[in-house]
Amino acid sequence: MNLIERLNLNFAKPTKSLILLGATGSIGTTTLEYLRRIKTIKLKAISVHQSTHNLNKIIEEFQVEQVAITDEESYDRYIKNNQNSRIKFFRGSEGLVELIKNSDADTVLTAVVGAVGIRATIEAIKHNKKICLANKETLIVAGDLILEHLKVSRSPVIPVDSEHNAAFQLLFNQNPENINKLILTASGGPLRDKSVDEIKKITKQEVLNHPTWKMGQKITVDSAGLINKGLEIIEAHYLFGFSYDHLDVRIHKESYVHALIQLKDGSYMLSTSPPNMIFPIAHALHFPEPLPYTLKESQEPEEWPALKFYPVDENKYPGFTLCLKAGRRGLSAPLVLNASNEVAVELFLQDKVHFMDIPKIIQDAMENIPLVEITNLDLLLQEDQKTREFVYDKYNRVLI
Ligand code: NDP
Ligand code: MG
Repeated sequence: MNLIERLNLNFAKPTKSLILLGATGSIGTTTLEYLRRIKTIKLKAISVHQSTHNLNKIIEEFQVEQVAITDEESYDRYIKNNQNSRIKFFRGSEGLVELIKNSDADTVLTAVVGAVGIRATIEAIKHNKKICLANKETLIVAGDLILEHLKVSRSPVIPVDSEHNAAFQLLFNQNPENINKLILTASGGPLRDKSVDEIKKITKQEVLNHPTWKMGQKITVDSAGLINKGLEIIEAHYLFGFSYDHLDVRIHKESYVHALIQLKDGSYMLSTSPPNMIFPIAHALHFPEPLPYTLKESQEPEEWPALKFYPVDENKYPGFTLCLKAGRRGLSAPLVLNASNEVAVELFLQDKVHFMDIPKIIQDAMENIPLVEITNLDLLLQEDQKTREFVYDKYNRVLI
């Protein structure tokens, strides 16, 4: 199946009205910044989790009509202190699904972090909305289910993750027969120049100090161990239908080239832009039309850094190897990988486990939780919960 059929691209239209899930995050904030510039896209609905302090400002500025507050305590506190009859509010993760059901916006941009966005994304697909997909965990956990839902929907999917958006632009209108492999780039994160011994002593602050991208905490931790890149390989597998033998990664410290395709004749095509999420966000919102103007962040080629590429040293990044294993194993392995990683990262951020423990925790979960075929959403949520409990029960007590 070609990309156009696979991702329902024949039904894609430029976004006119938007639901932004995760409006307070890194991607959410960059999206708001872009909407301020473009002014032709109406922001109709947003979701936030706990960051309600900025909510009134966003509501007023964009004249938002509907708001989901997914953290229930934050919802209760906010509603107690704020009366606004013009706005419809929704509560909790169920509220995220209700928000989609009740909105007539044509597009959903999923910028929540973690696997929480799955039900909302499936609901959006059922309502034939255009999906601008930033949240990678959705596809990693529920890739097969999402693809099944897409087959009976007119919902186009445009990736926002920078490497996948770049790959999408390279692959769109390419004959798949022409392509040898797809390569995603990785900056290598803040630990790329450190030895394995140095990484053993790494601090949380060093892990959170990404050299090229400004992102949320979870993806920054994922990037430091190259788990983000491993997750992205699984994401690329589901988005573009490439087998794992035809997907590859190169370290590219400058983060200027985001994806490369090698054609059958051995030549390469690559997609490049400065490391700023405004490029993929804007592309996805306007697709299938081109942007109406040149983004001010664009740089002339003479301003680019020298472009270098290196293979991944898997000894340094055991989490990356585990991701590839989970992808190749299939069944619920990517789900177990993702859920155990989400909990491990949370425990790391709470100083309960060391950075080096993250891949060990994932490996433990992958070795001990039996794999199943994910045939429906209930089973998926059950397996996801089972994995999270396994990790919490075993590691939440550990204090370094
Ligand atoms: P952030 O941590 O910056 O933001 C996360 C957003 O999700 C916030 O709005 C937050 O709300 C909300 N949120 C947090 N927890 C929950 C929850 N349990 N239920 C519902 N909403 C929740 O993340 P990023 O913007 O960095 O990343 C978002 C997604 O995009 C991730 O899947 C990431 O992998 C992907 N991505 C991000 C990139 C980037 O450059 N940042 C690049 C490519 C992909 P609140 O602030 O109110 O707590
Ligand atoms: Mg990425």
